[in-house]
Amino acid sequence: MANVRQPQAASGLANIWLPYTQMQTAPTPLTVVASTGCRLKLADGRELIDGISSWWTACHGYNHPHIRAAVEQQLAALPHVMFAGLVHEPALRLAQRLAALLPGDLERVFFTESGSVAVEVALKMAIQYWRNRGEAAKQRIVYFRHAYHGDTFATMALCDPEEGMHALFAGSMPEQLMAELPSNESLRGAFDLLLATHRARLAAVIVEPLVQGAGGMKMHDAATLAFIAESCRRHGVLLIADEIMTGFGRSGRMFACEEAFGLNGIVPDIVCLSKALTGGTLPLAATVARRHVFEGFLSDDPAAALMHGPTYMANALACAAANASLDIFEREPRLHQVAAIEQQLRSELEPCRALPGVADVRVKGAIGVVELAGAIDLRALRGRFSELGVWLRPFANVVYLMPPFVISPDELATLTAAVRTVLAERALQIP
Ligand SMILES: *Cc1c(COP(=O)(O)O)cnc(C)c1O
Repeated sequence: MANVRQPQAASGLANIWLPYTQMQTAPTPLTVVASTGCRLKLADGRELIDGISSWWTACHGYNHPHIRAAVEQQLAALPHVMFAGLVHEPALRLAQRLAALLPGDLERVFFTESGSVAVEVALKMAIQYWRNRGEAAKQRIVYFRHAYHGDTFATMALCDPEEGMHALFAGSMPEQLMAELPSNESLRGAFDLLLATHRARLAAVIVEPLVQGAGGMKMHDAATLAFIAESCRRHGVLLIADEIMTGFGRSGRMFACEEAFGLNGIVPDIVCLSKALTGGTLPLAATVARRHVFEGFLSDDPAAALMHGPTYMANALACAAANASLDIFEREPRLHQVAAIEQQLRSELEPCRALPGVADVRVKGAIGVVELAGAIDLRALRGRFSELGVWLRPFANVVYLMPPFVISPDELATLTAAVRTVLAERALQIP
C-alpha cells in the first residue's frame, strides 16, 4: 500500500459546495484542524479567536472535557438506535431536564436533528392541533419582518421577505402573513387587528423572542413579546417561540421568553430549541409543546397522531452531549459570564456609534451588534478580520459578536478592538 497516496485536504475543495457562497468568486475557505476554548487552530498554523461560536452553538467553548467524556462513554455503549417503539436513557433524561428548565407546562419534547426541522415540526403541531379540533381552516402562520426561521421550504416562507429567499423561490413556498413587531401603540393596534381579521385561518404566530437572529439581528423588549402572547391568547392563535438562537443563556436568561413572564405569566404554546443545545458539538434540535397542545393529539383516531419522524431523531450521542452541556450550566457560572460579556460589549462597542457608516450599536446578553449603513464589502470585512486573528463573519448589514460564554476579558477585548479597527478603516474609505 506504500504507493497509495493519501488524498490532500486541499484537493477535496473541488468537491465541496459551500453554503450561501458564490463559488466562482469565493475566497479559499480556511481549513481548521483543531479547536479548544475560544480558539480555532488552522492548518497553516495560525490561531483565530472565535467571536461567533460556530453559528452560535459553542456556548462552553470548544472541546469541553465534560462533553467529550460523555460522548465517548455514549459511543461505547449506544451511539444510535431508531426512536420509534424504542427509547433510550439519554433522550428520556434530556426530555425530563428540558421540561424542568422550560417555564410552565412546556413538557412534551419531540427531538429532531436541525433547527429548521424543529420549526417544521412546530408548524405541523400547530396545524394538526387545530385540525384535530375540527378547525382545519386554521393553517396560516404569522411571522415578523426581519425574522429568520430556517432554510427549508416551509421555514423560508417565514423569513424576512427581503433578507430571505422569497424572491428566489416565490411560487414554491407556502404563503404566510408577515407582520411588523408590535413595538409601539399603533403597531400594536395593527397587529391585534391582523389576528382579529384572520383568526379563522390562523394556526400560529411564530416569533424569535427578544432578538431576531439571521434576519438582521434586531432586538425588541419583553413588553412587545408579552403583547404578542396576549393577542394570540385573545384571538385563539397558538404562539411558537423560536428560541433556536436565544435559548441556553444567549440573551442573558436561560431562555429569552422567561423575560416576558414577569409581565403576564405568558408561556408560549410551542418552543423550538437547537444551536447551543449540545454545546456546539453534535446536531440536535427539540420542539417542546405545552400540555394542552400535546393533549390535542390524544384520540382514538390513528390519523390524529403527530405525523413526523426523522431517521436520526433523538440520536443518543447528541442527547448525551446535550445532557453534559446542561450539567455544565449547573456547575459553571454561565449566566454570570453572559452578564459580564454584556457589560464589556456595551462599553467596548459603543465607540463604534461615532464612526461614519455606522447606523446602530445594540447589545443584549452575549450578543453585540454593529449595524452598518451604506455600501458594504462583506468579503473585504471578513478577510480583514481573519488577518487580525479573529473569526467574525458579518452578513447583510451587520457585524456581530456572539462569543462562547467562557471567553476571557482579554480575548473579548481583542475581538471588540478588531471590530473598532476594521470599521474605522472602512470609515476612512467613505467619501
Ligand atoms: C439557526 C436558526 C434556525 C435554523 O436552524 P438550522 O439548524 O440551521 O436548520 C431557525 N431559527 C432560528 C432562530 C435560528 O437562529
